[in-house]
Amino acid sequence: MTPSTQQSEVILSINPANGQVAGQVEKNSERQVERAIDLANQAHIEGTWRKMLPHERAATMRRIAAYLLEDKERLALLQMRENGKPILECLRIVDNAANAWVYYAAVLETLETEVTPPRGNYLSHTILEPFGIVAAITPWNSPLMIESYKIAPALAAGNCVLLKPSEETPQTSLELLKFAKLAGLPDHTLQVIQGTGAEVGPKLINDDRVQMITFTGGTATGRTIAKAAAERLVPCTLELGGKSPQIVFADADLDLAVDGVVKGICGAAGQSCTAGSRLLIESRIYDDFLGKLKYEMSLVRVGAPHLETTQMGPLASFKHRDRVAALVDLAREEGATVELGGFSPQGELSSGAYYAPTLLTGLSNNSRTWNEEIFGPVLCVRSFDDIEDLMRDANCGSYGLAAGIWTREFQKAWDVGRAIDAGTIWINTYEQSSLSTPFGGFKQSGIGREKAAQCLRTYSQIKSFYWGMNT
Ligand code: NDP
Repeated sequence: MTPSTQQSEVILSINPANGQVAGQVEKNSERQVERAIDLANQAHIEGTWRKMLPHERAATMRRIAAYLLEDKERLALLQMRENGKPILECLRIVDNAANAWVYYAAVLETLETEVTPPRGNYLSHTILEPFGIVAAITPWNSPLMIESYKIAPALAAGNCVLLKPSEETPQTSLELLKFAKLAGLPDHTLQVIQGTGAEVGPKLINDDRVQMITFTGGTATGRTIAKAAAERLVPCTLELGGKSPQIVFADADLDLAVDGVVKGICGAAGQSCTAGSRLLIESRIYDDFLGKLKYEMSLVRVGAPHLETTQMGPLASFKHRDRVAALVDLAREEGATVELGGFSPQGELSSGAYYAPTLLTGLSNNSRTWNEEIFGPVLCVRSFDDIEDLMRDANCGSYGLAAGIWTREFQKAWDVGRAIDAGTIWINTYEQSSLSTPFGGFKQSGIGREKAAQCLRTYSQIKSFYWGMNT
């Protein structure tokens, strides 16, 4: 039986590696959500946090980073038990989360605003003000990191934040809250709202006191949030899904490319918005490359996430594993040939939400499974003969998050990279990620950018001052 994550008053967090309860948190009632918004509003009006000088806020943020790193192993294990990611990946996630706090502390301390050229006898300049209350709604794939990527710049800008984590991974957010309090963040500047999206989401996104919304998750939910934000005319940033193409030209370093393609789809068991989930191979190397790829994918070590030798753990929940399996069944109906995988491993892995690395060929470029996000270790493959062929298959569909290009010809990489509708292009590498580089999507992969120094401005509004000089 597929374990359920819901009961009436608590949210049970289920370990997807074995189906056992990993922990539980209390659900917030509608009244509690209302109270949290009241308290955040009060905290914003009192302004203890936003009135602190930038270097003082930055010092608090660095203390949060230090607490995270001090408790790195425990936090990594907590996340591993909630979403099944291999332990080495979970340790990196804690590092990335801590880095976000340090990075935005540095951005805050060095942030400059403008003195603008006067057109009369006055001095004009800008300052940045917070929005007030920011609602941050986050998914289950890398909770501690995604939460930090949103909360650190939002708090740095002086906002109060209401964080709603996914019901699948509710516990790490409470750790963040605990460390924020220990670090000296004023009361109610950060609060965590626990509950399903359907239960607590509407209250959070429709309350007039919530002046900005930041969301990472699926496109359908993103659309609901964008509509709510449009209705109230408040800004929102949306980091949504992807169906990112990896493109392998015949002149590429094929060993490097195979490695990048395998890691791009099996890393995080494909549950990453940037997963390289469609592959386009130049036709004259198609058979060779597919053979190598099949072999390398078959070697991926699927297993228990606590083992350091494991390369791919279970999917984050049983519900999600069933969703991935159903999409692979759909691909079969759409005419796909399953070259590898296409099943949940049995034996000692049968009690977990595992799914085997899967390779599908034979899909047409207008099939649902070529165009929809599967969010699992499932790679859809086609070949191309020329650039026109390639661009049609790479750009089709509604997503535009990322792409990988494997070639030794820089001009070709540049031309194809420019022609692809995507927010990030990786050339002869894949899922290289830097906090200092903006991240976000074209088309229905999102609105706005995360990461990078500019993200602090995303959580701020510009106020212009004019000082008359005639007195
Ligand atoms: P969702 O987009 O539904 O969930 C993301 C967050 O939004 C969760 O905290 C969820 O709460 C919350 N939420 C859901 N409905 C509402 C609402 N009406 N108002 C406010 N918040 C809401 O993703 P799913 O978990 O359902 O996954 C579906 C698909 O989305 C995946 O298969 C994948 O394709 C994609 N996805 C993309 C991610 C990315 O990194 N871009 C991350 C996760 C998923 P709760 O879950 O507690 O109900």
